[in-house]
Amino acid sequence: MDKKNYDLVVIGGGPAGITGASTAAEWGKSVALIDAHHELGGAGVNTGTAPSKTLRETALALSGARSRNLYGVDLSLRKEATVTDFLRHERNVKTGLNMFVAQMVKRSKIDVHYGTATFADDHTVIARSSKDGPEIHLRGEVILIATGSSPVRPVIFPFDSPGVYDSDTILELGRLPKTLAVVGAGVIGSEYASTFSALGTQVHLIDGRTVLLPFLDSEISRSLAAAMEGNGIVFHWNEQVVDCVPVPFGIGLTLASGLSLTVDAVLVASGRKSNTDTLNLAAAGIPTGERGLIVVDDHFRTHVPHVYAAGDVIGFPALASTSLEQARRAIRYAFGQKLRSEFPNVLPTGVFTIQRSVW
Ligand SMILES: Cc1cc2nc3c(=O)[nH]c(=O)nc-3n(C[C@H](O)[C@H](O)[C@H](O)COP(=O)(O)OP(=O)(O)OC[C@H]3O[C@@H](n4cnc5c(N)ncnc54)[C@H](O)[C@@H]3O)c2cc1C
Repeated sequence: MDKKNYDLVVIGGGPAGITGASTAAEWGKSVALIDAHHELGGAGVNTGTAPSKTLRETALALSGARSRNLYGVDLSLRKEATVTDFLRHERNVKTGLNMFVAQMVKRSKIDVHYGTATFADDHTVIARSSKDGPEIHLRGEVILIATGSSPVRPVIFPFDSPGVYDSDTILELGRLPKTLAVVGAGVIGSEYASTFSALGTQVHLIDGRTVLLPFLDSEISRSLAAAMEGNGIVFHWNEQVVDCVPVPFGIGLTLASGLSLTVDAVLVASGRKSNTDTLNLAAAGIPTGERGLIVVDDHFRTHVPHVYAAGDVIGFPALASTSLEQARRAIRYAFGQKLRSEFPNVLPTGVFTIQRSVW
């Protein structure tokens, strides 16, 4: 069997994987990077950070909020934006970032292999471009797992039905909903609720808790919830969706309290799980925890000392910024480079909701 040997094999081409790969390549290490998708950049570029922030900016621009804020008048050209207006800029930004990442990888002389990665043993990863397609065996002295995370899809929601989305598929929205139920008032749910509300969509935000983003200081959480309510978002606290079915004019939801809602669309934002299902981690001797999480030590080493993991696949805080710093540190440690400081205990976090002051 043909096997290619590398100093480092990286699985995943998101913020963590790209940073880990280019850090090692800078020191002249031979590096292979495997990604299941041709558009490199992972969730950071394709489905998460950049798209959601671009859509937020687009919503502010289309709604006239930015111009009202500057000049005190509504300078928006249209009263109603189309879905094409809404998604165009996001697609352009994504294409630009994909090209930027691809050029960076090429400049760094990283060998990119497109396909799904599976461990054969603790030093060997197989990349397969399709189920029955050819296999490439890659041997790494060091391996970095940076496969990220995906939205959890509770079985109660019929994701095959038009109008039922998660945070990945919302980017394929067919038309702008007049009414939207967002299930889960975490960071992703709150951000998208704000974005759609700015576009004029009537948003229902449903959550099993009684407090918005409980990791915030309580006065900030209260003030944010009040601001979002002021923008027209209807909160349904201490609630759970017990039924979700397509109905003639939209999607019908039944909540645990007995309340029924009919909306044009539903966005399910009820957490994320690590992308470890297809990795065959058992072949490398690496256990996983709840929701597929990989456990690492302070140096981002898994149970197998030459196999590292960084980014969303290891869980909290699951941010693009922290993912790439974790990978950089993992690779420095793996190749004996000095680390000048400890990984910080306090990490900057931004929540990109929209407050009334910018309307
Ligand atoms: C809606 C949303 C908004 C967000 N907003 C922000 C924000 O404002 N700020 C912020 O810092 N973070 C934000 N994040 C989080 C951020 O996107 C992630 O933390 C970051 O992308 C994680 O990087 P990663 O490299 O660990 O994984 P990912 O970016 O998920 O990349 C993983 C890569 O691995 C590949 N892969 C997975 N499995 C395999 C396999 N078996 N074989 C081969 N390839 C595989 C995937 O194709 C993917 O390209 C947001 C996320 C979402 C969903």
